Amino acid sequence: MDPQDVDGDLETILLSEEEIQRRLAEMAADIEKDYEGKDLLVLGVLKGAVMVMADLTRHLSRHVEQDWMAVSSYGSGTRSSGVVRIIKDLDTDITDRHVLVVEDIIDTGLTLSWLVSNLRSRGPASVEICTLLRKPEAAKTSVKVNYVGFDIPNSFVVGYGLDFNEKYRNLRVVATLAPHVYA
Ligand code: 5GP
Repeated sequence: MDPQDVDGDLETILLSEEEIQRRLAEMAADIEKDYEGKDLLVLGVLKGAVMVMADLTRHLSRHVEQDWMAVSSYGSGTRSSGVVRIIKDLDTDITDRHVLVVEDIIDTGLTLSWLVSNLRSRGPASVEICTLLRKPEAAKTSVKVNYVGFDIPNSFVVGYGLDFNEKYRNLRVVATLAPHVYA
């Protein structure tokens, strides 16, 4: 979907399709350099990271394995609490593997912090993080994020994998929602 397909629902377009793709290509180049000579397992977190995973990995000019996890974070309203349940676990044994977690957005970082310690307990060679978007509050978390696409303001965004009530994931851009959509 393009912005005109959801006419009036969007407030501000933060990132165009071209901006997202250009940045993902740069991030892929950094990842290629950093993992040169090492095997790499890219772990996408469902469902939001589907678009990032698809485009980031296609910008890579090398082999990678891809696997997925689905987690649910319990929280009050839209805030996550750091209490996490695994809905779908990895199919892959990550012992001695280099794992790169691909996220759509990091807000409080509580979900990610839980996920990283869960993965580290499985004996991987390394666990690093890549996210397309990062909100200001993420700076407070202790989890080191190696690859960040864009730092964005602290407002609720949709598009490019990110939803509001399971809609807008297939929007090509990242945008804030107009207030009437929430009502
Ligand atoms: P955290 O544990 O970092 O606070 O929560 C991260 C998760 O919250 C993301 O993976 C995403 O599912 C959801 N989230 C946080 N901010 C936004 C946002 O602005 N828009 C949408 N659609 N989801 C968000």
